Amino acid sequence: MFLTGGGKTASLAPLPGGRNCSPRSMPETTMTAEHEPLRIALVGSAADQALAQRLEAAGRAPGAILLAAGDASSLLAGGAADAALIWLAAGDDVAAIASLVPLLDWLGLARASVVAVEVDGDAERLAAALSAWRQAAPAGNEAPLAAVPVNAAGERPAWYEGPGLVEALARLEAMTERRPPPFRLLVEAGESAPPGTSLAGRLLGGQAAVGDEIVLSPSNQVARISALAGGERLVLELDRAVSAEAGEIVSLTGDAPIETDVFRARFQWQEATELEVGDELELELCGRHTPVRVQSLEAVIGRPPPATAVAKGELAEAILRSYTMLALDAFAHSPASGRFSLLRQGQVVGRGIVSMAGYADQRDLVTVRATNVTRVPHTVTTEARTRLNGHRGGVLWFTGLSASGKSTLAVEVERQLFARDFQVYVLDGDNIRHGLNANLGFSPEDRSENIRRVGEVAALFARAGFIALTAFISPYRSDRQRAREAAEGDFHEIFVDADLAACEERDPKGLYKRARDGEIPDFTGISAPYEAPESPELAVDTVNHDVAACVEQIIDYIESELGTEAAQRRSAG
Ligand code: ADP
Repeated sequence: MFLTGGGKTASLAPLPGGRNCSPRSMPETTMTAEHEPLRIALVGSAADQALAQRLEAAGRAPGAILLAAGDASSLLAGGAADAALIWLAAGDDVAAIASLVPLLDWLGLARASVVAVEVDGDAERLAAALSAWRQAAPAGNEAPLAAVPVNAAGERPAWYEGPGLVEALARLEAMTERRPPPFRLLVEAGESAPPGTSLAGRLLGGQAAVGDEIVLSPSNQVARISALAGGERLVLELDRAVSAEAGEIVSLTGDAPIETDVFRARFQWQEATELEVGDELELELCGRHTPVRVQSLEAVIGRPPPATAVAKGELAEAILRSYTMLALDAFAHSPASGRFSLLRQGQVVGRGIVSMAGYADQRDLVTVRATNVTRVPHTVTTEARTRLNGHRGGVLWFTGLSASGKSTLAVEVERQLFARDFQVYVLDGDNIRHGLNANLGFSPEDRSENIRRVGEVAALFARAGFIALTAFISPYRSDRQRAREAAEGDFHEIFVDADLAACEERDPKGLYKRARDGEIPDFTGISAPYEAPESPELAVDTVNHDVAACVEQIIDYIESELGTEAAQRRSAG
């Protein structure tokens, strides 16, 4: 936990009990950028309450609440901070920065950090600390906001003429953005209620007012606030009945939590048994318990890649996947609903924070078919189409890294099947992105929406009796699962399997080179995730087999799965 200085609380300031929580009627309780003091995480071995008080008494951090964190891991468990002051005491090894900097980066604090280095005679220790920072820092965070030499009392050494700690902290104060947290109300166990117009919960942060429209997540029920009362435990009166379950989060509709079944977990592992890919754990997030699986290990701080296991005490980043939709927030957006625990057999084995870097909010991607629309009853039946075509319709979904061979194979399969009188059509980036999806870019949300539409279009082709071959990287498993659901059983996932090294070596369009040069952000395999299929209907190995062999394998599969005897007779003849 953070220690707090000056008796002030460091957590998200709850509104006082028994009062209306509207910012309009209670301006003195609102948390605005003007009123909220800068919350500084004080980090390092000397970061104790005594140092926090000494600094505050000396006016070193004007208007600031100092949060002391004895070691890096307490940052993950503690409250939210706006900025960090890393204090390297005389006895500290400057190399310790190597584990602090990635952690501060995870917490969104690396850009808002001041390093105070206790030095004896000269600036050598300061230079060494900065060089350790540079080596550990991710691109873009190569330097702290300021680095100053100090003595144990925080004063500037006689030989040093640059700006001291006071100036550095004033600069921190001036440059750090303080955003009030979004409104989050947690419906707790015992507060779930049958449908009704009254809703109670614990305020995690932010504020709401009469007239605001709220949404419950993950159930997605919407209502408007007609009255509200209470403080930390808030009761909302709504204009219509909702049914709230324990663990649901109430937010304003314009700033709701993310809905996802996959996220980036940054955590400290606390169990003697090492954590490995494939492990099943229980996730505790905002009081709700959900089973999750470790899909991949992205990094372990202090270990060279690739990460294969996480030992006790280590800080790691993993991709966690749940079997149901979760409502959560990136820690950087809403600390109170972006923090979790991991449990195994009821014991806490890890604590951490949520990042959504590279992953999409799936809230808008779940295709909700309008209820007032009825499908036109077709008089041409699926059977009639199959008889005419000599094969069934279906979606053949090619997925794989860029340059793995999706387009090459899809186009050649189309050519050969067409020659055998199959009704077949390739959907690829060119014919979809330039038309139907011309309004989409390459953010995680747009990529997912791109794939959602392709999935729906491919499903229509399949229903029309066609064999739709789709050639999209489609890096997210959730997106491919949605495409599978859209095709209602006529879906065949083909993993076009070539590893990153092989694809990078081929690089037919020079995209990998441009991505490595930093010209293309969020490039799958380099700076954005690719989630390989777990159990595709077919996998073709394009590294060890040539195009002709891969095409033959796919056509054999299509003929056996979708072909009818008539088609087989036709191709034989
Ligand atoms: P993608 O559509 O997956 O981005 P492309 O089909 O555009 O990939 O590019 C794949 C590249 O790999 C082409 O230059 C192709 O000639 C080459 N290649 C080598 N072996 C194979 C194979 N077995 N299958 C498909 N492509 C292959």
